[in-house]
Amino acid sequence: MTAADPLQAPLGDLTGVGPTRAAALASAGLRTLEDLLLRFPLRYEDRGHIVAIATLRPGTATIAGEVVDAQIKPTRRPRFTVFEVTVRDATGSARAVFFNQRFLAQVFRPGQQVVLHGKVEWTSLGPQFQSPQYEFVDLTSVDEGDSVHTGRIVPIYERIGPLTPKLQRDLVARALDRLPEVITDPLPIEVRRARGLPTRREALLDTHFPPEGTSVDTLNAFRTPAQVRLILEEFVLFQLALADQRARVVTTAKPHRVLVSDEIRTLARRVLPFVLTPGQKQALREIVEDLQRPTAMNRLLQGDVGAGKTIVALLAAIVAMANGLQVVLMAPTELLAEQHARTVASRLDGTPFRSVLLTGSQRSVARRDALAAIASGQAQLVVGTHAVLEDPALFNRLGLVIIDEQHRFGVGQRARLRGKGRLPDVLVMTATPIPRTLALTAYGDLDVSVIRDLPPGRQPVRTTARPEERRNEAYAFVREQVAEGRQAYVVLPIIEDSDKIDVRAAVSMEEALRDGALAGLRIGLLHGKLKAAEKQTVMQAFVAHDVDVLVSTTVIEVGVDVPNASVMVVEHAERFGLAQLHQLRGRVGRGAAQSYCVLLFDRPLSEEARERLKAMTDTTDGFVIAERDLAIRGPGDMFGTRQAGLPTLRIGDLARDQDLMADAHEIARGLVAEVPDDALPRRLARAAWAGRFNLAQVG
Ligand code: ADP
Ligand code: MG
Repeated sequence: MTAADPLQAPLGDLTGVGPTRAAALASAGLRTLEDLLLRFPLRYEDRGHIVAIATLRPGTATIAGEVVDAQIKPTRRPRFTVFEVTVRDATGSARAVFFNQRFLAQVFRPGQQVVLHGKVEWTSLGPQFQSPQYEFVDLTSVDEGDSVHTGRIVPIYERIGPLTPKLQRDLVARALDRLPEVITDPLPIEVRRARGLPTRREALLDTHFPPEGTSVDTLNAFRTPAQVRLILEEFVLFQLALADQRARVVTTAKPHRVLVSDEIRTLARRVLPFVLTPGQKQALREIVEDLQRPTAMNRLLQGDVGAGKTIVALLAAIVAMANGLQVVLMAPTELLAEQHARTVASRLDGTPFRSVLLTGSQRSVARRDALAAIASGQAQLVVGTHAVLEDPALFNRLGLVIIDEQHRFGVGQRARLRGKGRLPDVLVMTATPIPRTLALTAYGDLDVSVIRDLPPGRQPVRTTARPEERRNEAYAFVREQVAEGRQAYVVLPIIEDSDKIDVRAAVSMEEALRDGALAGLRIGLLHGKLKAAEKQTVMQAFVAHDVDVLVSTTVIEVGVDVPNASVMVVEHAERFGLAQLHQLRGRVGRGAAQSYCVLLFDRPLSEEARERLKAMTDTTDGFVIAERDLAIRGPGDMFGTRQAGLPTLRIGDLARDQDLMADAHEIARGLVAEVPDDALPRRLARAAWAGRFNLAQVG
């Protein structure tokens, strides 16, 4: 967009926006006219039918009139207040009551003109609104034909600090007044026409001030053609930025070449401790095909917890190393990096290849040794946290980067990685089974392999939810399992933003169990404040079965693999998110024995928490759980948007608008194939998303 684009004018240009209001708007991310106009109302209200008070009937209605009385009414119940307002128009008067909202005494004053909207009931004192929506208006201007605040369907915007919905409505109306006759439209005409969608200009006007006759229900479902058009525009630009990035990567030849010989196949077979499942075989085939292509691989390997992604990645690594390339395997936590380092080292035993561990907290000697081994070519595989990539001098023949537990590693980070200029093959692995729409969003730039089966002999984890009072039963069961030679996890919630309390809770819980329910068992304690070496010691003791029960905060969440562990007790399960509970539960059920998960919950249980626990006891299928999670919470919260690398959308909603994202994905891939690189939509997409995703650094 050019500097002359009127939509890019600062909001300060609008009448009524001084520095204070401009700052308030900026705090909500609204700086330009376009920012303001590409922000949907929270909802819409039909004020087209303001009824005379005398004609009110029970049901939902809108009235307009003057406040004649406003006061707090005493009630018999202590600490329970009723605020009562009386409004009068030319035909009569009606009351409105609000419960426990004392502050309204500062808001309503006799003499004000107000519009009330809401449900009306009949009382002995006549019509009564209960907690209606209210807005103060200038009714004289209504008579003069004001069509912004009343007498129509009005948009209700989310309040921003001192900026009331009404004030924002005025600003939006003024911004729309300044729209030029023709505005640049990123959506190609054919795309728009095929779907019967309006131009950008019409869409902006109709979204904020819907024409008469528009269904309020459709508006509130955000499904009018105007709204759909704006959502689709945002999605297409986003998908286009991803497709664009992908197109660049897949057309640039990578500097290395990978070939697969019989010799390499034999070598790979030697490290294989078991027969691969059909899903693993298929994924491996896809990966190895990618490796042999002249352009770099960008592939996501999706597979539920325990599906066996690690071995697939290791086999890919062997192919790369056999071609003289270096490989990096990155984990999201040091704990997981250390575990991978152990498994990888033992699997590579008997091959010509060596691996080293490289983490931030390593002592300098160990680190120096590791660096020397990589530099000399003695070690070809580096296992570490993503700090590994910060050292550009490290790798001279980096051919393959494997990123485990992808959900902590977003689009932007991947782009930066490729931006380092070496175009390694990239394999990202995630155990988070995400619904297709989100996959298109978070991983729209990747090709996807999915392992749907589990290694043979796995039995679904039997899961129960129990109230806290039955804690003793849960721990008695842990004792039984330990007596049979099994191991157990006890998971404690992280107490948000309070590491200290968290550690204290973990420590005292561990003490309570040691002296009480689990007396006599060998207990290990793992929490976020332990030093890396201490964590490793505890973890190794658990792996070696020198510890029966591992009491832990969620640091064990990702990837930990101890097949002999058969029980997990989750304390305060109601505080965990669904994706997290599923991840946690994946720590058990990794061996042949029947495994169990007991979710202890504390009351009161919110509706959402109840649904989460129910989802957990209903199914162990990660894909089903992901769909439920999306339904319960919406995508914004799903994995923590930032972690998932999900975009911050302005108007689109990944849960509500799933169908549109799928459509946008197709449109974008088509455009990238059909229109030249400098065509308008592609330029706009880059401009729109470059800043937000660092996509510009790529290519
Ligand atoms: P994830 O996909 O969650 O990373 P892992 O790679 O850690 O799963 O594998 C889980 C467990 O299953 C490991 O103990 C691994 O050795 C084992 N495993 C993986 N594939 C197979 C297979 N085909 N047959 C038997 N066991 C397997
Ligand atoms: Mg794993």
